[in-house]
Amino acid sequence: MAKFSELNLNPKVLKAIEEAGYESPTPIQEGAIPPALEGKDVLGIAQTGTGKTASFTLPMITMLARGRARARMPRSLVLCPTRELAAQVAENFDTYAKHVKLTKALLIGGVSFNEQDKLIDKGVDVLIATPGRLLDHFERGKLLLTGVQVMVVDEADRMLDMGFIPDIERIFSLTPFTRQTLFFSATMAPEIERITNTFLSAPVRVEVARQATTGENIKQGVVMFKGSRKDREASEKRKVLRALIDGEGEKCTNAIIFCNRKTDVDIVAKSLKKYGYDAAPIHGDLDQSQRTRTLDGFRDGTLRFLVASDVAARGLDVPSVSHVFNFDVPGHAEDYVHRIGRTGRAGRAGTAMMICVPRDEKNLADIERLVQKEIPRLDNPMKTESEDQTAAETPDAKDEKSGPSRSRSRGSRKKAAEKPVEAAAEPVAETDPSSESAGIAAPKSALPERGSRRRSSDRASGGGAAVVGMGDHLPSFIALSFEERRAD
Ligand code: AMP
Repeated sequence: MAKFSELNLNPKVLKAIEEAGYESPTPIQEGAIPPALEGKDVLGIAQTGTGKTASFTLPMITMLARGRARARMPRSLVLCPTRELAAQVAENFDTYAKHVKLTKALLIGGVSFNEQDKLIDKGVDVLIATPGRLLDHFERGKLLLTGVQVMVVDEADRMLDMGFIPDIERIFSLTPFTRQTLFFSATMAPEIERITNTFLSAPVRVEVARQATTGENIKQGVVMFKGSRKDREASEKRKVLRALIDGEGEKCTNAIIFCNRKTDVDIVAKSLKKYGYDAAPIHGDLDQSQRTRTLDGFRDGTLRFLVASDVAARGLDVPSVSHVFNFDVPGHAEDYVHRIGRTGRAGRAGTAMMICVPRDEKNLADIERLVQKEIPRLDNPMKTESEDQTAAETPDAKDEKSGPSRSRSRGSRKKAAEKPVEAAAEPVAETDPSSESAGIAAPKSALPERGSRRRSSDRASGGGAAVVGMGDHLPSFIALSFEERRAD
């Protein structure tokens, strides 16, 4: 196994790595750092959790330690699809560059232009940005990209999902032709392949196995659940969620709970809170300071349950999440892999549980095809509850207000297992399928800050063409997922 000290990194960077407690480079670091330091373009096929952020920040800091920043002309640029990821990359720079004098600016939505303008005016070594915000700054004439020597595109496949590819192409064209490009994507969709063919020059390709698809360290399970009545399904599903959490007891130290729709993120968080669970929501409609506060709380352990949408949680690095609960089956099979990859990081044990209602069975089948295994069926925890336990939960119906109160027979709890008592369905969940809820998981937060919106069906936009350029490295599930998309 290689050692960091063999990778030609700046001694001050090595010191910071040691202080971070890393013993040896991860495979993506071992593969990407040497060519990056030689000035070569790198195409890294890896997802978060593999140590990918350090695989580009460490060589960048080493290279940038030489030279100085010039006013309005950043020397390097890192593009990330979401604000949270950009903030996370910025934190990585802080950690690894703590013994090196480097300046950086973070250009993300929800943060005032003025402060960032001042930093850029002075000159920064590293600019970390979401594509839309970067172009806004550029168009205001405050920024020149002609000094960019190294450009990083992180999570390119997510950029594609979010409709950022035209922005990325534009940004590429604004940077010098001679720049070095470090490009990362979890998958190589044809559109991503096209971009890399166009903008990367003889890249060194480093591919690491996808984490979690077969992750033996993640215990997976799914509860097949059908509501007793359509209008009760949502509230009964929340009850199943609570029963799953309770069933895990102390093993569940903290968890991310994923919902497909932002409205459900809010409802589930609110409902959990009402039942005494320490939960808070995170999605793209919440203001930045609230998102940051919530995330910080979750990271430092003061918040136990983070209820999240895919976009908000994508790539979040919280090293020790014991559980992931999929309140909904994700509409895109790849999102299942990303979601459960939040737990079981760095080889730790993790548990991922999902609730599947009948209309999501097709999506579940897609996931099982993608991960090439059957997700074990779990007993519905509601069905195994004793009558007493069920009775103890009756405040549920009373507390979960917001719908017109319904009269229920409190006497007939016998069949509580089949007929959960939580009756008051919340109309907001049932009768307000706002635009974002139509169809597959397309939370509004996935809307690009600018530029055209593309759904991931574009990923299969290669028409009938075979997936090219994968050499011997095409993992079979990728091909499967393309086929599925076409069929949709
Ligand atoms: P990333 O894939 O960049 O999201 O990194 C995932 C996690 O791995 C982060 O918490 C990093 O701090 C951590 N990490 C990165 N490189 C190493 C390493 N060489 N050894 C141990 N942990 C690492």
